[in-house]
Amino acid sequence: MTSRKTPIVFCDFDGTITANDNIVAIMKHFKPEGYEEIINAVLDQSISIREGVGRMFALFPSSRKDEIVSYALEQAVIREGFAEFLDYLKSKDIPFYVTSGGIDFFVDPLLKPFDIPADHIFCNSAVFDGDHIQITWPHPCQDPCSNDCGMCKVTVIKDYPAEKYTRILIGDSVTDFEGAKKADLVYSRSTLTERCEEIGVNHVPFETFNDILEDMKHKLNQGVL
Ligand code: MG
Ligand code: ZN
Repeated sequence: MTSRKTPIVFCDFDGTITANDNIVAIMKHFKPEGYEEIINAVLDQSISIREGVGRMFALFPSSRKDEIVSYALEQAVIREGFAEFLDYLKSKDIPFYVTSGGIDFFVDPLLKPFDIPADHIFCNSAVFDGDHIQITWPHPCQDPCSNDCGMCKVTVIKDYPAEKYTRILIGDSVTDFEGAKKADLVYSRSTLTERCEEIGVNHVPFETFNDILEDMKHKLNQGVL
């Protein structure tokens, strides 16, 4: 007798649920002195994501909170098909988690219309009570991950063992590289697609959430998910 595994979805936020990376957008808009060097170091992985994101936000005095929050919210666009995709998962009882390297001040308000339970949203936090913006890291790496992720997708995923779950990761970039190695199936865009090809991870490139919905529907109908 075969025991069916439960599909479970872990979805990135920046550049995945939203069309663009909101951290990159904030930095490119406000251009705090020195941000470019840090962003490039994160993207080429010469420094960790936690160090890079922490250092970038520390370039801003806390007094700029309101303009940064407003800008982040006004420029963000939700990727096509997201609401329909969530409805589909709900109809199939497939659990959905947001695993984001982004920051709560934009992740939470942008997700508000979609009725995702708070304990299904993993992201970083910001505090604005010091001289400069400080990012806090409520979900750090735990053994076996020592990548200094900031928000560790590997650590979130490991609570859902491969014996019981088919772990599906959706993402686009550097914050997804470690989690993708643990996933059973990856829906990828951008540099995550290139990385999956390099390291031989099972992946399906996508542009909109409709693409993912169609592929999942097909796989469920075929009994391969
Ligand atoms: Mg991303
Ligand atoms: Zn980690």
